[in-house]
Amino acid sequence: MSLSVRCAATGTKLIALDFDGVVCDSVGESSLSAFKAAALLWPEIFQTPEAEARKNELVEKMRAVRPVVETGYENIIQIRCLYEGVSVDEMLATWETMLPSRMAEWGLNRGEMVELFGQVRDDWIAADLDGWLAPNRIYEGVADPVCGAMSSHQVYIVTTKQAHYTEILMRDMASVPFPADRIFSQTVSGRPKGEVLAALAAQHPDVNAKIFVEDKLSTLEKVARDPALSDWQLFLVDWGYNTPGERARAAAHPAITVIDKHQFKELLTVPAAAAETEMGLQVAQ
Ligand SMILES: [Mg+2]
Repeated sequence: MSLSVRCAATGTKLIALDFDGVVCDSVGESSLSAFKAAALLWPEIFQTPEAEARKNELVEKMRAVRPVVETGYENIIQIRCLYEGVSVDEMLATWETMLPSRMAEWGLNRGEMVELFGQVRDDWIAADLDGWLAPNRIYEGVADPVCGAMSSHQVYIVTTKQAHYTEILMRDMASVPFPADRIFSQTVSGRPKGEVLAALAAQHPDVNAKIFVEDKLSTLEKVARDPALSDWQLFLVDWGYNTPGERARAAAHPAITVIDKHQFKELLTVPAAAAETEMGLQVAQ
């Protein structure tokens, strides 16, 4: 395909990308940060030889339950649940109710947990930036298309991760100098991503297409239910933190398209008007 010639003049897209599970595989770091936070919150449980001996097992289980996490602080509650014997399957199936019930049982407050998780990361970064970066990984084949899209499209990151961690990872791991004012974080507010999408759309009324790329199906489903966001094209990546069952559900959803890395690259490269035919995708409308 010879697309570069036609890219610049027409077909500008508004592209909103989720970060964790789309650009960055961060589950190793978030699980280790959760262990550190749990050790501060519950030293009698997590600052013990028993917990230390089970660290690898717990971190491995944290990877398996990552699909149900919406915001980082939830990892802290997850690691204690797993330590106390909750199974991966049970957590995957019931996290939506398990989270508020354990928060109440253990007397936890969302704002304080967000602050604790941020503090642990800040301390780790200040003490050992390389050590903090090391368990993070940028997905292969993702950084270059993102970088390329920034010159011809309006590209934003819309994430539940705190913005400055996202910025550090883009700069130091992806080697993409992503502007801080194009990273929108809902960590503190906890407000839905749909509100950011609506604000971005209002800010860019002249784009030819609006693209939202996520790895979390429930987030896409919420956007799909909002009539005010019906002109956004919704994409679920086939990597990141979703399960085969969720990918099958997404594939059957009339407003959601499942994409692989190759299609992701095409989506970010091809101008809006040519996207559907040249990608060979049945893009959901
Ligand atoms: Mg994600």
